[in-house]
Amino acid sequence: MTQPRMGEKTRMPPCACPYCEHTLDAASEGDTDTHGPPLQGAVSICIECANVLVFEGEPLVLRKPTPSEMREIVEAIPHVIQMVGAAHLARQIRLLEAS
Ligand SMILES: [Zn+2]
Repeated sequence: MTQPRMGEKTRMPPCACPYCEHTLDAASEGDTDTHGPPLQGAVSICIECANVLVFEGEPLVLRKPTPSEMREIVEAIPHVIQMVGAAHLARQIRLLEAS
């Protein structure tokens, strides 16, 4: 696996989240030193279910990280924990607004 990184906000070919099947067609920047489209091995978080995903393939699609990749991601990108928390809070707000 390449060094895990967060990609900047960019449009991407639509693909389904492997956890919740939500169609994802954009990735948001999570790291200020990365620019351009997501790269192989870049990390993303599903806006719908807040699970961590990894970009892979050509064209890029999102897949679940392996358990060892997940440990690497948490070590290499400590702020991923805050980003997952923020995504969970955003999801809860959407659910509350819809109820
Ligand atoms: Zn999802």
